[in-house]
Amino acid sequence: MSPIQETLDRLTAPGTLFKPAENNRLECVACAHRCKITPGHRGICQVRMNEGGELRVPHGYVAGMQADPIEKKPFAHFLPGSDALTFGMLGCNLQCDFCQNWLTSQTLRDPQAKIPSNYIEEITAEEVIEIAINHRANIIASSYNEPLITSEWAKEIFELAVKKDIQCVYVSNGFATPEVLEFLQPVLKGFKVDLKTMQARQYKECGGGLQPVLDSIIKAHQLGMWVEVVTLVIPEYNDSNEELWEAAQFIRSVSADIPWHVTAFHPDYKHTEVPSTTAIILQRAADIGQEAGLHYVYAGNLPGKVGSLEDTFCPHCRARLIQRRGYTLMDYQITAEGKCPKCGNAIAGVWTDTPTTVRLHGLGMPRRV
Ligand code: SF4
Ligand code: SF4
Repeated sequence: MSPIQETLDRLTAPGTLFKPAENNRLECVACAHRCKITPGHRGICQVRMNEGGELRVPHGYVAGMQADPIEKKPFAHFLPGSDALTFGMLGCNLQCDFCQNWLTSQTLRDPQAKIPSNYIEEITAEEVIEIAINHRANIIASSYNEPLITSEWAKEIFELAVKKDIQCVYVSNGFATPEVLEFLQPVLKGFKVDLKTMQARQYKECGGGLQPVLDSIIKAHQLGMWVEVVTLVIPEYNDSNEELWEAAQFIRSVSADIPWHVTAFHPDYKHTEVPSTTAIILQRAADIGQEAGLHYVYAGNLPGKVGSLEDTFCPHCRARLIQRRGYTLMDYQITAEGKCPKCGNAIAGVWTDTPTTVRLHGLGMPRRV
């Protein structure tokens, strides 16, 4: 067993997201794999295990934590200008060959994904909250790897955060179950979901499935979470007009008010044979989203190169309400009630009346581990 795995096995606690299954197995319901884990074995994510009939789940550590602009998650309609204290863990329930966080997501599966054991920092939920307060972060985000697989630990942190008026969000691949979304719903206010592709075969190649992701977008929206969808647009993978149209139509069928971020890919991990996504491709994807009737379409990862596709416009009168450049807000016009000041139209989202409109880059909290 690797030193990292030994450390992670020690940093566990009894989990609650499971159902008893036949032959002493435990069915984990933290993600759509629904692993039925026999005693002495692990689930697909490698971080949840059946130890003598007890489900043990990650607890009491972070692997990377820093204060990021909420725009980086990306969320465009969730308290713009806020800082989100963001923590990551290790492991993932999928294994995408284009993963841009593969060192942490695949560290338990891929010997190439080596991270030092001191990357793991033991911490209590109370300490996470204290750090958020000290850095005036009014949001806490679970991100970097896949948060669903550590949902009990996230909920423990989030329950304390809510008591301090800190909002909580997930940055997730959306390969969830109704059970885990209902478990999180009382404390989870924002759910950023990847919609990687509309091809079931390609989701399978990532070790997941398309339908659970579509179902989770619907479910999270029904539960009242603020949902934003991200599609990393990868040339020759998911960038055909037909596939982008299908993705946009699906989101539109849930709600025209769900923001859709089409973001630029750069070659990484095992997906290095195709070029980076150009601004022209993102513009085409955004045009498709707008034609499908989505009210809010954004192009990401190419700051300053995508015209007004970083900005928020009123879908009724087309007034520009938020001007952005990368993670920086250049202008913010939405009223405290979340309305367009010009025509009074309500703008969907979670708004603040104190946005930080000029944020200097690089002042985030340094990594603690
Ligand atoms: S989180 Fe998903 S992959 Fe991990 S044990 Fe549970 S069902 Fe399996
Ligand atoms: S789901 Fe996200 S974190 Fe996990 S392997 Fe895929 S891209 Fe990486």
